[in-house]
Amino acid sequence: MIGRGLVKGMSITLRRFFDRPNTVEYPEKKIPMTPRFRGGSLVLDRGRCIACGLCAMACPNAVIDMAAETGEDKKKRLTAYTYHAGLCLFCNVCLEACPVQALSWSQDYEAACYRREGLSTDCLAADQRGDKVG
Ligand code: SF4
Ligand code: SF4
Repeated sequence: MIGRGLVKGMSITLRRFFDRPNTVEYPEKKIPMTPRFRGGSLVLDRGRCIACGLCAMACPNAVIDMAAETGEDKKKRLTAYTYHAGLCLFCNVCLEACPVQALSWSQDYEAACYRREGLSTDCLAADQRGDKVG
């Protein structure tokens, strides 16, 4: 039949016309990320961290710079923990290596900046400020 394709196409158009839209008017509206989203920043829970260094050792791209000291009670404590997002592969290996689940991903996906240095996060300072995980 001549015009069959046209009728079929128009019927799909009509059906979609009354559907709810799948898009939002970004940046006024934002879609919440899924709980397993990896693309934000690495978030450190300092209270949980035992300064074992496994995350930094497991990282394939040397993204995590950390330093620790041993206190009088013989326990190790972090003195520095910097995450360089510009080098991160978002592979999740650091989270899997952590024995105490002290790492997680933030839900923030607007991390663009003009200078590479802006992609580095002092996770200890962020934890002190109470920056939200999601
Ligand atoms: S996600 Fe992968 S590349 Fe990024 S810090 Fe963790 S281990 Fe390193
Ligand atoms: S692996 Fe976990 S506990 Fe060990 S230093 Fe990294 S964040 Fe801290």
